[in-house]
Amino acid sequence: MATLSKFSGILSILIIFFANLNPLLSENLPTTISASPSVMAYATAPNMTSFFPSPRVHQPPEAAAVAPSVGALVPIPSSGEFIGKSCAGSPEVESSIAIFDLDYPLPPSTAFLTLIHLRMKARIVNSSTSLLTIRGDLYRHRRYSTSCSKNLTTLFNKYVDKTSVSSWNSVIAELARGGDSVEALRAFSSMRKLSLKPDRSTFPCAIKSCSALSDLHSGKQAHQQALVFGFQSDLFVSSALIDMYSKCGQLQDARTLFDEIPHRNIVSWTSMITGYVQNDNAAGALLLFKEFLIEQSGFEEVKEVCIDSVAMVSVLSACSRVSGKSVTEGVHGFVIKMGFQDNLVVGNTLMDAYAKCGDLGVSRKVFDRIIARDDVSWNSMIAVYAQNGLSAEALQIFHDMVWDGDVGYNAVTLSAILLACAHSGALQVGKCIHDQVIKMGLEEDVFVGTSIVDMYCKCGRVQMARRAFDRMKEKNVKSWTALVAGYGMHGCAREALEVFNEMIRTRVKPNYITFVSVLASCSHAGLVDEGWHWFRTMEHKFRIEPGLEHYGCMVDLLGRAGFLKEAYDLINEMKVRPDFVVWGSLLAACRIHKNVELAEISARKLFQLDTSNCGYYVLLANVYADAGRWKDVERMRILMKNHGLVKPPGFSLVEVKGRVHVFLVGDKEHPQHEKIYEYWEKLTMKLQEVGYVPNMTSVLHDVDEEEKVMTLRVHSEKLAVAFGLMSTVPGTTVQVIKNLRVCGDCHTAIKLISKIVNREIVVRDSKRFHHFRHGLCSCGDYW
Ligand SMILES: [Zn+2]
Ligand SMILES: [Zn+2]
Repeated sequence: MATLSKFSGILSILIIFFANLNPLLSENLPTTISASPSVMAYATAPNMTSFFPSPRVHQPPEAAAVAPSVGALVPIPSSGEFIGKSCAGSPEVESSIAIFDLDYPLPPSTAFLTLIHLRMKARIVNSSTSLLTIRGDLYRHRRYSTSCSKNLTTLFNKYVDKTSVSSWNSVIAELARGGDSVEALRAFSSMRKLSLKPDRSTFPCAIKSCSALSDLHSGKQAHQQALVFGFQSDLFVSSALIDMYSKCGQLQDARTLFDEIPHRNIVSWTSMITGYVQNDNAAGALLLFKEFLIEQSGFEEVKEVCIDSVAMVSVLSACSRVSGKSVTEGVHGFVIKMGFQDNLVVGNTLMDAYAKCGDLGVSRKVFDRIIARDDVSWNSMIAVYAQNGLSAEALQIFHDMVWDGDVGYNAVTLSAILLACAHSGALQVGKCIHDQVIKMGLEEDVFVGTSIVDMYCKCGRVQMARRAFDRMKEKNVKSWTALVAGYGMHGCAREALEVFNEMIRTRVKPNYITFVSVLASCSHAGLVDEGWHWFRTMEHKFRIEPGLEHYGCMVDLLGRAGFLKEAYDLINEMKVRPDFVVWGSLLAACRIHKNVELAEISARKLFQLDTSNCGYYVLLANVYADAGRWKDVERMRILMKNHGLVKPPGFSLVEVKGRVHVFLVGDKEHPQHEKIYEYWEKLTMKLQEVGYVPNMTSVLHDVDEEEKVMTLRVHSEKLAVAFGLMSTVPGTTVQVIKNLRVCGDCHTAIKLISKIVNREIVVRDSKRFHHFRHGLCSCGDYW
């Protein structure tokens, strides 16, 4: 409960914060805010903006430094000033170059790009700035036009000493560093055409460009040439080659090269370890690290191991991919021993490694220990919490990040926060983040765009998700999958399948998760034939072998549609060992169709797989109860007691005027609980007038009738709906999120309420969305 109230507190703060950024939203601000004292402090403050430093939004440095015109290029360093003036006075670049060349004997490569750059009126440069680096910057930020490229070639031909290898080297190096690998390789090839002999600095940069492009063909050619010119034992060349082969997926070739190196240095070792990590062979990476340590200890004391932070980062990345945290702990110990614990990148990777092996607590401790956090540290911590469903913590870290103000948030941060919003159904915060995304011009970013689609789907606004999806210029498999899953969750299986077909038509190849979404959509709507069709097609046509999730969906689909035997047969045919989701789906289906025999088989498997989940005991007890086997019901109850199992508390969230309210079963903690119960009483009377009779079957059959009615009356979703209705204007939609599945009785009651009050009520439970309207639910009572 403490976490829950903390959650609503942070949510409110963020909403207030974003509302201040967005004047359109500020009218929705709550006038009074109850709950935690910290929230009170914010709410009663005269000016809420004063609690937040003005947000520092990340901007690429270039954008910030763009000068309005060449004439405005002051103050600038001496040579730059001169160039600026000469450029401003004469539009002819060539004549400027002439003057420039006479008076300022800078390296020609520096000169020409300064001029191009100034002509583009892009930004102030000084003599120390490498022009090719700027070109790389321009290229990265897509400000690099064809005309600029033409100028570059012309000027390059005119001013660079093409007979000098070092000249070529610097050009290749700068192009590679600037991310223009194609140009770097072109320069390398031009140089070779002139029959110049490349030296040891030429190859590493050329090979790196091949790696960046995953161009194995050119990589092999470069390798051959390196052999021809006698650089096979050069450590930098061989490390670059190892990296190239690994990035191109040729791990064995990389390893052969590595084994042939007579005296490896730390760079060679790191390249090879990284190669294993990149090729999803974490065990291989860790084994190699062990070999490295053994080799090192053969020569000197282990404490004098020659290792750098780059190698440590590679090893830690491997740790994050193996299960079990003992390896990570071991390497962490080594990190401390070697004195790398204060290294920022090492810290960030360590944080991630602990999070991946499930120890969020230690991950957080590592984060807290990092002194000068960068955007990666903040973003990783937010993502860790968001991915693990800890939305409150994710929002808190984001709040701290904004407060801290040292690091600006960016696309990655906003994507992670959108994920947190999706988990908690915080539509208002989500909308504010969307607004921020538009302001920052990130809407077209495929990564952020997909997060927005996902957020709207999970916050119950599938139409808005569709609109956001349609606005995206570039869509990848994740974007399509998010929309398919969204439609599925809302029970719109036809739309989901339509989107899926459209995806195939646009030649985006569906992946493993896409098919999980497709099958789940079929399952939510009971489309058995379509389900079978895609289940078979995924393997035959798309070469994706069905995994646990696909079987889980199919068993759920078949079971709920009444094909229990087919579902059971499918489980027995599975190539992978069925997990608790698969058996759990069958057990739930047995409950619906009152099949005691299969229920017992499923439950037996479930008790072996997961002893701590009391949900299975309750389900089986209910199956027995339906069959009138009271002794077995009692047996289940005793078993649960002996295992010390308690039903996890159900809770529901409802967002009212930008504030999330949390309700537990029979909640009396809410400041307005008296009014809520009063309102609920009135609703119950109206419900009974239209013939509502509480349904008892969802309650474990061990309480007497009167108590059952009481338990049903105070289900958290009912309280949340009642509060939502009484606190919002007629005509608006009330949206409730429940952590468990909505029970049959609440489902019936809410259907009728939607008719009585003539309002739309949306409930997201742990499985799907229910849209209640005019006495009906979008799930068609099939859930
Ligand atoms: Zn209920
Ligand atoms: Zn429903």
